Amino acid sequence: MASDPMLAVSKLCAAHGVVEAVRDVDVQVPQGALVALVGANGAGKTTTLNSIAGLHKPSSGRVLVGGRDVTGWPCHRLVRAGVALVAEGRRVAPSLTVLENLELASYAKRRDKADFQQQIGRVYDLFPVLAERRGQYAGLLSGGEQQMLAVGRALMTRPDVLVLDEPSMGLAPSIVDVLFTTISTLHETGSTILLVEQNAELALAVSDYVYVMHRGRIVAEGEPDELRSRPEIMTALFG
Ligand code: ATP
Repeated sequence: MASDPMLAVSKLCAAHGVVEAVRDVDVQVPQGALVALVGANGAGKTTTLNSIAGLHKPSSGRVLVGGRDVTGWPCHRLVRAGVALVAEGRRVAPSLTVLENLELASYAKRRDKADFQQQIGRVYDLFPVLAERRGQYAGLLSGGEQQMLAVGRALMTRPDVLVLDEPSMGLAPSIVDVLFTTISTLHETGSTILLVEQNAELALAVSDYVYVMHRGRIVAEGEPDELRSRPEIMTALFG
């Protein structure tokens, strides 16, 4: 792992009331890397991401983005600091059109019209279906299209770190393939990505480095091939 990560999380702890969901989590995402966080239901993956992206206040620990301490910052400030979260369950604005959803997302970091056009062009290149449906209400899109829109909205903020929470959840396998091909394209073109994925096989296939979470802690980490060669990890992940 590079010594100067784009995202560095250290000793992160987070709780839901009395439930300690995340304990002493260390995660590093070097610039241009795709790093995955995997683990079973309830392992603490979403709480970790939400604590990084400003949806949940960590109880202790530090989150650095590009070397800057952004621990506990609210979501809107974190977007400006370069962190964009695609939250679990998509959450597009259903009564706005595809274009309006993308426009709304861009306000957080929009510089000028040319910048907006360039960025929306990039999103439409990645997801041509969004260009075709730009005038359609987001609530009328399929689940897969809504997930593409959710990723597109995050990209409109030109993130330094794209944080994806379970992008495959509830989607048909063919749509998951399309989505993960795009995630791989983003990776190949230099995006820095932290991915939470319950489908560990899928996560291992696309990522450079993987952290395994269990009961709120990181219990293993390594490159995908390294983890594949450890039977105890594979059994824990795949049964
Ligand atoms: P999943 O894949 O099911 O989303 P996860 O690995 O993302 O799981 P979290 O959602 O972060 O795990 O949950 C971690 C722990 O925190 C679990 O024990 C869960 O029951 C608990 N938890 C999560 N959200 C809340 C909440 N709002 N209130 C109380 N406990 C919660």
